[in-house]
Amino acid sequence: MFKKILIANRGEIACRVAATCARLAIKTVAVYSDADANAKHVSACDEAVHIGGSAPKDSYLQWQRILAAAKATGAQAVHPGYGFLSENEEFAQACADAGLVFIGPPPSAIKAMGLKAESKQLMEKAGVPLVPGYHGADQDLVLLKKEATRIGYPVLIKASAGGGGKGMRAVDKADDFDAALASCKREAINSFGEDAVLIEKYVQRPRHIEIQVFGDTHGNCVYLFERDCSVQRRHQKVLEEAPAPGMTQTMREQMGAAAVAAAKAVNYVGAGTVEFIVQQGDDGRMDFYFMEMNTRLQVEHPVTEAITGLDLVEWQLRVASGEPLPCKQQDLRIHGHAIEARICAENPDNNFLPATGSLQVYRKPACTAFERSSLRIDDGVRQGDAISPFYDSMVAKLIVHGDTREQALARMDEALSHTHIVGLATNVQFLRYVVKSPSFAQANLDTALIPREQAVLFKQEPLGLNVAVAACVAHAVHSEQAEHLPPPRSSPGRGGSQTHTTWTDPFARRDGFRPFGVAQRRFAFEFHGDKVEATLSYLHDGALHLQVGEGAQQTVGSLQFAAKGDALDVQFAQQRHTAFLYQKGPTAHVFTAQGATQIIVIDLLAHASASTAQTGRLTAPMPGKVVSFAVKAGDAVKAGQALAVMEAMKMEHTIAAPKDGTVAELMYAPGDQVTEGAELLKLAA
Ligand code: ADP
Ligand code: ADP
Ligand code: MG
Repeated sequence: MFKKILIANRGEIACRVAATCARLAIKTVAVYSDADANAKHVSACDEAVHIGGSAPKDSYLQWQRILAAAKATGAQAVHPGYGFLSENEEFAQACADAGLVFIGPPPSAIKAMGLKAESKQLMEKAGVPLVPGYHGADQDLVLLKKEATRIGYPVLIKASAGGGGKGMRAVDKADDFDAALASCKREAINSFGEDAVLIEKYVQRPRHIEIQVFGDTHGNCVYLFERDCSVQRRHQKVLEEAPAPGMTQTMREQMGAAAVAAAKAVNYVGAGTVEFIVQQGDDGRMDFYFMEMNTRLQVEHPVTEAITGLDLVEWQLRVASGEPLPCKQQDLRIHGHAIEARICAENPDNNFLPATGSLQVYRKPACTAFERSSLRIDDGVRQGDAISPFYDSMVAKLIVHGDTREQALARMDEALSHTHIVGLATNVQFLRYVVKSPSFAQANLDTALIPREQAVLFKQEPLGLNVAVAACVAHAVHSEQAEHLPPPRSSPGRGGSQTHTTWTDPFARRDGFRPFGVAQRRFAFEFHGDKVEATLSYLHDGALHLQVGEGAQQTVGSLQFAAKGDALDVQFAQQRHTAFLYQKGPTAHVFTAQGATQIIVIDLLAHASASTAQTGRLTAPMPGKVVSFAVKAGDAVKAGQALAVMEAMKMEHTIAAPKDGTVAELMYAPGDQVTEGAELLKLAA
C-alpha cells in the first residue's frame, strides 16, 4: 500500500479521499489555488502545495505543476477525484511516465470511453444494449438529418465529447433539426473544443439507472449494484438513491452483467460507472440501454457505500497499489436503502441559477441525531467560507441510510430541516419539497419528475407570516432577557410604588409605550414585500400577548417561548415551532422543522438595530452590487422608507430606513461592488 499520495482536486471530494487515507495511515498532499489557500481540503491533508491562480485552468488543470508537486513531496500516487483531470487520459499517461501511480483506470480505458460515439461503437461489439441511434464518424449534415428521420422523432442530439449535462438538444420534429444541431455544435465547440455529435432516440419519461463497477489488475471485475439518478435538473443529478426502486433481481443481474461486459471490453481497472437509460413500458416492463461510462469515482458513490458497507476509496487505493479486489461478486450484498441529496448554491425559483457568496451561517444536522451511519455529510467547506464563481456550486452532500426507503426518506427530510445556510441562495428547501412530492415519495421516478411536480416545488412559502413574526419577537425578547435585562412589568402607574428599579427602565425605550397596566412594544416587518406591524403587550402576570397585522387580517394571541439549545420553542396562534433565528443586517433568517424563511425587520428589534439607529449607519447585509439609491443627500426620510436597492445572490434587496431622519451622505454610486457590512449611506437624526 502507498505511504503518501497527492490528491489532485479540491472541495468535498478531496476531503473525502483524505478521510480514507487518514484512516489507512496514508499521508496526503493537497494542492490548492489562490482562492483555496484556506480551504478545508488543505487542512484535511498532511501537506499542501500551492499550484496557481483561482481559475481551474491556472491551477487544478495545470498538470505539470501537479506532477511537480507530487515529485517534490515524495508522493507515490495521484488521486484525481472527479471533474478536473479525472478523465484526462494524457494526465493519466503523464503520471505513469513520471513514475507515479494514477489512481484510476489505464489511459487506454479513459480514451475508449471518453467519446460517447466511439464508446457506443465498442459497446455494440461487446453486445451491450444501446439506445437506437446513430453514432457514426460521418458527420455530414444531410446524413445526420436522414438518420434522425430513420430513428424517428423525438430525437436527442448529443455532443460526443459532452459531459455534465452540456451539449444536448432534444428535437421534436424534422423542421427544428437544423437549428438544434447548429446550437448543439456551438455549445460543444465552446465547452469541449470539438463538435462531433451522435443522435439518439429521445426516450420518454426515462429513468437514469447506473451500475457501479470495479476492476482490478488481476482480471477481476464486479458490480456493486445500481444507483437511481433519475431526479435531474438540466440533465444534472439532484437526488440519487440505491437500490433503484422497483428493481427486480433479474434485471439487476442483467444490468450488472452488461456493465461488467462494458468494463471488460476496455480492460477496466478501478472504480467506474456505467450509465444506462431505462425505458419504462406501461406494462411495468423496463428496457435498459447503455448511455456512457464515467471512468472515475462518481459524486454519488456514497449511496453505494451506504448499502454495501464498503469504502470505495479504500478499494481504489488497494487496486491501484496492485492488490486484488477485496470481495467476489457472490460476497456482495445490499443492506437497506440510501439516498443522497446534493446541496448546491443556486436559486431553484430562478431556473436554478448558481449563486455565490459566503456561508455566513453553515449549521449542519448533528450526525448523532440518529444511530451512527444513518446520516453522513460530505463537504469541503466550513462556516465563513466563500462559494466562489470559480468552482462547482455544490456545497455539501447529505447521505442518509435506513432499513427501508421510507425510513431513509424521513431521515433525509429531518437532516435537510437541520441544515441551516445563510449568506447565499441554496436548494435546501427545494430538496425538501422534492423529497416530499408525491412522485418522489411514491418512487414514481423518471427524469421528468421535477417539471411534473413543479406546482409543489417552486415559489412555495414554507412558513407563514405569523410563525416568522412570532420567532422574531420571541428572539428579541429572549436576547434581552439573556442580557439580564429583567422584562418590563406592568406598572401600577406613573410614580407608582415600584421599588426595585436598579436596572435601566425598559419603559423608557423609545419604541415602547405603556397605557396603564400594560407595556407595549411595536415592531414593523416586511414579509414578501408587504409591510406588517406587530404589537407585543407585556401583561400583569408576566405573560406576553402578540398582535400581528391589523383589522380583518390580524392574528392575536398569547406568545410563549422557552429556550431549547440555540433555538426557541415558540408558541403562537395555535402553532408551536422550534425556531432558529439568524439576523444579518435587517434580514432575519428563520428556520423551523417546517422550513426556512426570511423576514425584514424594519423597526427597532433588540440591540442590533438599536445601534444602527444610534449611529445612523446603514450597511450592506451581504456582499453584492449597489443597484440604485432612492434618495439623495439632504432628503428627509421616514422609518421604513426604501433608501437603496442592492443586488446580491442574483436577487434584489431593498435597504429601508430604520428610523426617521435626513440623508447625510451616499457612500457609493450605483454599480459599485460592496462587501458585507459596508456602509452604504449615512443618516442624520
Ligand atoms: P455526471 O458527469 O454523470 O453528472 P457526476 O454526477 O459524478 O457525473 O458529476 C461530476 C461533476 O462534478 C463533474 O463533471 C464536475 O462538473 C463536478 N465537479 C468537479 N469537481 C468537483 C468538485 N471538486 N466538487 C464538486 N463538484 C465537482
Ligand atoms: P452527460 O455526459 O452530460 O452526463 P449523458 O449521456 O450521461 O450525458 O446524459 C445525461 C442525462 O440526459 C441522462 O441522465 C438523461 O437524463 C438524459 N438523457 C440522455 N440520453 C437520453 C435519451 N436518449 N433520451 C432521453 N433522455 C436522455
Ligand atoms: Mg452522464
